[in-house]
Amino acid sequence: MTFESLGLKAPLLKAIEEKGYTNPSPIQEKAIPVILEGKDVLASAQTGTGKTAGFTLPILQIITDTKNPKYRPIRALILTPTRELAAQIYDNVRDYSKYVNIKSTVIFGGVKPKPQIATLRNGIDVLVATPGRLLDLHSQKALSLKRVDILILDEADRMLDMGFVRDINKIMELLPTKRQNLLFSATFSKQIKALAKGILTNPVLVEAAPENTTAEMVTQKIYRVPKSRKTAMVTQLISDGNWSQVLIFTRTKHGANRLSDKLVKKNISAAAIHGNKSQNARTKALKGFKENTIRVLVATDIAARGLDIPLLPHVINFELPNIPEDYVHRIGRTGRAGASGEAISLVSNEELEYVRNIEKLLQQKLKIVELEGFDLTEDKDSQQDKRSSERRPRRDNKPKQGNSQKRSFKPRNKSNEKSSTPPKKRRGSNSRNKTNSRPKRNTDN
Ligand code: AMP
Repeated sequence: MTFESLGLKAPLLKAIEEKGYTNPSPIQEKAIPVILEGKDVLASAQTGTGKTAGFTLPILQIITDTKNPKYRPIRALILTPTRELAAQIYDNVRDYSKYVNIKSTVIFGGVKPKPQIATLRNGIDVLVATPGRLLDLHSQKALSLKRVDILILDEADRMLDMGFVRDINKIMELLPTKRQNLLFSATFSKQIKALAKGILTNPVLVEAAPENTTAEMVTQKIYRVPKSRKTAMVTQLISDGNWSQVLIFTRTKHGANRLSDKLVKKNISAAAIHGNKSQNARTKALKGFKENTIRVLVATDIAARGLDIPLLPHVINFELPNIPEDYVHRIGRTGRAGASGEAISLVSNEELEYVRNIEKLLQQKLKIVELEGFDLTEDKDSQQDKRSSERRPRRDNKPKQGNSQKRSFKPRNKSNEKSSTPPKKRRGSNSRNKTNSRPKRNTDN
């Protein structure tokens, strides 16, 4: 299968060639022809599947083919949950539109609005936006959405997770009723289905290659370790393995800061990325990481979501997430674009329950590895961990002092229930349905 056979024209093919893509990815094969036909699409796809090109290429073609020669109203609106993802999508749009007469820009919060307003005033065909800033600028009359022909909701599940449902509904009211709609989501909860029902008209369902193709490329290992020795273990793994690009997940923003500081003290260049960091700091950290001037990026789940870091060789879960689906998202950061990767989880006694939940979701046992010098049974601390976890199993992994969230294990109410698609084997599995109470993501990010 070639990009040409999907119906894409010369200027886009040239841009694709310059990106070095030889063949369309499965999601691209399925989505591009359907989008070119003008149909609504409901797509199940995670970052790493090539979904961005999957929707960007056909919308660029449609807009180019139907362009008004005189002026540029916003004709395609791409909504996305995070600033990083917005910036990445915009980079893609720019790359792919190099040889067509299309102007695009990106708007998100955390930076001054004035330059964004100035760019919008010059006329924009394709706008990439986070919901909050879009509504802000709309209320300032800096943009109009009345001529939007194509709406793209990217990472729709994460937008709902992040509480954007109201913003999305408000945005819908600003759009013309007649338009093409594309909704991309990694998971399909009841909420996503409800959102899709309200937005899409007779959508064509498009699924990426089974999401666990990524996971199959990933070697997953569990290192058992006392909680107090996790930093030492991470340092040793990175130093001994001479790893140059490692993404580490922590549960909390403070945890991310702490670990990053400790690594820097041990002469391992590191930066933390999370919601409390300024946009500049986040951009700088990501740039340094991509350019290999920073070896370790320590991130929280939401901050890391959607980061496009190709060929990431190592992902470490410093703490396991209490939502098993988040584990699947995390390890999706490695083994991408056909490369193999390694996902390592540092697991203390109190996290064993999370391992069981993850294994249940994956329907697969995770390999437990021992690292010399980190003998769990001989470590006083771990015995302490073990005793306390036997007495009173902790559901979270927060510091013990004063945080009201620290042991919350609130059942998710049903309408809030998250249904993840990730691994293939899960389809048809009813393991999740057996539990009607789900933990909330136990994080402050
Ligand atoms: P995405 O899922 O859109 O975040 O894309 C993940 C990565 O795959 C990005 O780095 C893209 O540049 C890359 N990519 C997208 N399409 C292709 C393709 N057809 N062949 C090779 N790489 C691709």
